[in-house]
This record gives sequence, structure tokens and C-alpha cells, in this order.
Amino acid sequence: MHPGAAIIFFMSAQFLISQVAYLVLRRAPFLRRRISDEGKRRLSFRPMAAAAAVSRDGLKKGIAEFYDESSGIWENIWGDHMHHGFYEADSSATVAGHRAAQVRMVEEALRFAGVSDDPLKKPMRIVDVGCGIGGSSRYLAKKYGSQVQGITLSPVQAKRAQDLTMAEELADKVSFQVADALEQPFPDGQFNLVWSMESGEHMPDKEKFVRELARVAAPGGIIIIVTWCHRDLLPSEEELKPDEINLLNKICKAYYLPKWCSAADYVHIAESLLLQDIKRADWSDNVAPFWPAVIKSALTWGGLTSLLRSGWKTIKGALVMPLMINGYKKGLIKFAIITCRKP
Ligand code: SAH
Repeated sequence: MHPGAAIIFFMSAQFLISQVAYLVLRRAPFLRRRISDEGKRRLSFRPMAAAAAVSRDGLKKGIAEFYDESSGIWENIWGDHMHHGFYEADSSATVAGHRAAQVRMVEEALRFAGVSDDPLKKPMRIVDVGCGIGGSSRYLAKKYGSQVQGITLSPVQAKRAQDLTMAEELADKVSFQVADALEQPFPDGQFNLVWSMESGEHMPDKEKFVRELARVAAPGGIIIIVTWCHRDLLPSEEELKPDEINLLNKICKAYYLPKWCSAADYVHIAESLLLQDIKRADWSDNVAPFWPAVIKSALTWGGLTSLLRSGWKTIKGALVMPLMINGYKKGLIKFAIITCRKP
């Protein structure tokens, strides 16, 4: 199929399916009731109506299946870092520069958080929460010579992460398991560096998420959260505007995301947990070239054929990529880093 025809086909198929789903939902009273009950229970964070209707278990299953299905194609095109690259603001990205930009994202996050390179102070025990196929885990293990444990919801990712780690002869330092970030399989106070690169957006309970990150951190340990947020609300606002909620809901459905929060919400949570040295920054301008580059790579012959072979969840993810660009352009989606330290 011609690439252009393929895209039109995918877009029409998605439109048709969304219309059918809409009609079914409108006509199913029991579903309407569930959504509105769920709505009443929502407390501290602003509503993402469609996302809130998904149960926790349903969400976890969706996330696991999404990454089981899509990680191979991502790795083939982009390598083992499954996160944005960090670019000079207003620069345009070259394909060759993407891998370097992704590594730079890791380095910039460490620098921003003030992680020390000093042999006596560098982090010797690290947890990678939402580790993908272990790009960050291996990078950090090599950089610091530390022990790293990664957790992911996707069995396919955990296996691939382990295989890549063995191939790099790092298996004595780095290991992976399938586990939930909201109930981490680690005792309290284990890790000098708690690392979460682009997994926070999947967490249905942001407060519990940060509490778990803090629980497993050793005293004095550094916590780094790099994540997608929505813009901070104005003092006069109770919630985002309806068209903003609508846009985020579409992204939520395709990427298995629950309700979003702002970077200010993360800061409030960290403050309420008495974490120290809380810092935040908005890196949205530094990641701006990323999604256009991902779309470009998907529109190559190799990208399109891989997409066709991958499955519907991956295709749905590809179809909403322009919405991410739109969200950034509107100032609605923010690429945020939040760092802090356990007392
Ligand atoms: N940090 C990795 C991968 C980012 S993709 C990287 O930068 O390369 C998001 C990751 O978050 C996936 O591995 C997904 O399985 C994981 N994830 C999402 N929700 C999770 C949860 N509740 N518990 C553990 N991992 C989770």
C-alpha cells in the first residue's frame, strides 16, 4: 500500500471505530452510571473523564499489552531508550542526533538533580521505576558502576531488558522484574537514586506513586521524576478547559494513561511528604523536535511496514502522535522534571 493511502486508511478506520464506540457508550446506561459514580469519587486531581472510567487492573493490563506489543518496533527504529530526547531549544533534530539527544536527556536530568560523580558520593544503588527495556538502567550502571534494579509492567520488556543486559555483560549489576510502581517489591530505604523516566504519566494515583518512590529511597537519596504533565492551573481555575480535557482524553486512550496532573501538583505532593530540595523545570521547548522526528520515522517504508505488522494498540499510538505536538503547541502538555531528596 502507498504510505499516504495507508495513513488515510488508518485514520478513517480510527474515526469509524471511535464513532461506533461513542454510540455504544451513549446507549449503555450501566456504563453511564459507572462513569458518573467514578466522577463523584475523584478528589484532588482534575478530571480526565474517559480515563477515570478505566479500572486500575484494566489500566495495568492495557499498559502491559501496549508495551508488550510496541516495544520491539520502537527498539528497531529508536534503540533502547524509550523516552524523549533533549535538544537545544529551537534547534531542528537530525536522525543521527536522536540517540545522542536521548542520552543527553538522562545526563541533563542527573545534572539538574545534582547527582554527584564523586566516587564517594555517587549513587551505588539505583531503582529504575518503569524501566522500559532498560536503556537508562544500563546507562546508569555503566556511568556509576552501581547496582540497578528495573521494574516494568510488561513481561516482554523485562525479558528483552534482561537479554540486552546479558549481551552487554552487565548481568551482575543490572536486573529487571515485572512489578507495579505503586507496590514496589523492595524494602524501605534501599536506593540512593530513585529514577522514573517517563513512567509517571501512567500512574493512576500520583500521590501513592511519589510515596512509593520516597519509601524505597535511602535517607538522603535523590528522587528524579521526568514526566508528561498538563499545564499548571491558574489560581482562578478549578480545572482545564473542556477542549483541553478532550484533547488529553484522546491521548489517554491511545497511550493507556489515567488522569494527568500538573508539575505544581507533583511539587505539592513532594512537599506534603516532607521531601527536601524540591525543584522543578519545564523542558517542553527542549523536547519540541522529538514528536515530529518520531512521526517522520514512522512514515518511512520501514516504519509503516513495522507498524502494520505490530498490531492495533501500536497503530492507535502512532495515530495520536500529531495530538501530542498539538498539545505542546497549545501550551497544554508540559514536559516536566521534578527532583527532590529524602531527608
Ligand atoms: N523509562 C523507560 C521507559 C519509558 S516507557 C525509558 O526511558 O526508556 C514507560 C514505562 O513505564 C514502561 O516500561 C511501562 O511498563 C512502565 N510502567 C507504566 N506503569 C507502570 C507501573 N504501574 N509500574 C511499573 N511500571 C510501569
